Amino acid sequence: MAYTVSKLKDFSPATLEKAAEKLLQALEDESAAIKNESDWKAFRDHWMASKDGVLTSLNDLWLKAAPKDAKRDVGQRVNELKKRVEQAVDGARQKAERAADSQSESDRLDITLPGIQRLVGAEHPIIKTSNEMVAVFRDLGYSVQEGPEIETDYYNFESLNFPPNHPARDTQDTLFIANQGSKPLRQQLLLRTHTSPVQIRTMERLKPPIRIVIPGRVYRNDPPDASHSPMFHQIEGLAVDTNITFGDLKGTLDHAMKAFFGSSVKTSFRPSFFPFTEPSAEMLVSCFVCGGSGRRDSEPCRPCKQTGWIEILGCGMVDPNVFEFVKDNGYDPAKVSGFAFGMGADRIALLKYGVDDLQLFFQNDVRFLRQFA
Ligand SMILES: [Zn+2]
Repeated sequence: MAYTVSKLKDFSPATLEKAAEKLLQALEDESAAIKNESDWKAFRDHWMASKDGVLTSLNDLWLKAAPKDAKRDVGQRVNELKKRVEQAVDGARQKAERAADSQSESDRLDITLPGIQRLVGAEHPIIKTSNEMVAVFRDLGYSVQEGPEIETDYYNFESLNFPPNHPARDTQDTLFIANQGSKPLRQQLLLRTHTSPVQIRTMERLKPPIRIVIPGRVYRNDPPDASHSPMFHQIEGLAVDTNITFGDLKGTLDHAMKAFFGSSVKTSFRPSFFPFTEPSAEMLVSCFVCGGSGRRDSEPCRPCKQTGWIEILGCGMVDPNVFEFVKDNGYDPAKVSGFAFGMGADRIALLKYGVDDLQLFFQNDVRFLRQFA
């Protein structure tokens, strides 16, 4: 409740003294409650506003109302109180200003403090390598396709022309999902051992001609060592059209290797075998570390084992038996032909970055991985 000036019952020194004490107590209380500038403004107006402030009331109710003989005393008293009010209002202003200063002090930005470091992610070297290889084929008009990592025996083996007793179907090489003995073989689930099932899945969905590149993770029952891992990454490709020849395969892959490793690399093909291609080949590129000489800085070149060549991928013409599985979707082996190829992204990353232990890529030690960011 804000203080208001009341009329004096009489103008005796005792009454004056009492009324003055009451006023000063109110002044002190209100002044102490001030916390900020707007509090101070309200305080100032209450006491000093010319129209209805306390000082104006004091003038009207005490001084003007005083009888002639008391005027001198009352006038002195009012002047005294006026001074005290002015001092209090002035003191309160300084207090409010100091409060505002310390507030902005705590909000102030200290530009000498160290900043907050925001860690920015980067591609893993294997994913980066894979993306770069995929980009080479994308530039040739290939589209990217993906498929499930848990596959059926049908897509992983049967439709890719693996005979029922092929060693790859053995649990020595393939990770099967447990407790599926009651299911027919072709429906049994396994972790895909290659990205090739996506070839069949895509040919079931899209009619020829197709040109696709398939990056992805694959799994085999291999104990981890410097060049093996139970999980690794492949990049496969497939082109199907009328009149696709082995010449198209060689030309495409030769171009891709030059685009990826540099225009000076040479490519070489040697016969091989895969169940889903016929004929099949392994492709080698001339060693991009030693330039094909087999020696680097007069030391034997390790990446190519001094041969001057590095085996980089498997390839071949799609076996007509594979087309039989998707014949109904326009892949009549009498009318279409195609080539397929597949390579390990992990191995290419090892070669590209000169790393000699595959496990380093999967231990996820950021100090190691940061070097490739
Ligand atoms: Zn070499």
